[in-house]
Amino acid sequence: MTKKKLGIDDGDSLIARIMEALSEEVVCAWCKYPNKKIRATGLCSHCYNINTRIRNAQKAVERFKIENPTVTGREPLKLFELKFLLKVEMMKAVRAKAEGSLYGNLYSADIDVVRVECELDLVSKRYVNKRLFSGNASLLGTVFSPLQLKYLFYMLSLMNREHLRRNREKEAYSGAATEQTREAVSE
Ligand SMILES: [Zn+2]
Repeated sequence: MTKKKLGIDDGDSLIARIMEALSEEVVCAWCKYPNKKIRATGLCSHCYNINTRIRNAQKAVERFKIENPTVTGREPLKLFELKFLLKVEMMKAVRAKAEGSLYGNLYSADIDVVRVECELDLVSKRYVNKRLFSGNASLLGTVFSPLQLKYLFYMLSLMNREHLRRNREKEAYSGAATEQTREAVSE
């Protein structure tokens, strides 16, 4: 189908329409990831699973406390483990919401060229462990129109967001361990 048949004047018009459609889409209340099926809770399946695991981890902690009412003094190792697992799930929720804050409004907001450069750098860092595009912001701003930059950022953000989601468990474990250590030191 030709551009004329689609009623598209140029690339910028098409991008503007894509961005408008994305900005009107109902998205997950936490991560705001586009094109995901939303459950009745207002969350996508990724965030819904985190929320379910938080509730289950909270119940496990409460159940242990009820079943071990006479425990005094030093916290039992089992309770320490259950609380740590709860902390991991809470960390995942914090990170999912941070993803939503970082990328959720990109369709309506103007995308700064430095932000596009950073996103491009993040992809190269994650793919070849090297920042290949540092210092290229002004070149990107010259080569691409503001709307093309926005679409480029959108594509790059999807790659980086997939990475974040796939590594959320690992990152949350690491974050929870750091917090646990900090708490132990300050006690
Ligand atoms: Zn979500």
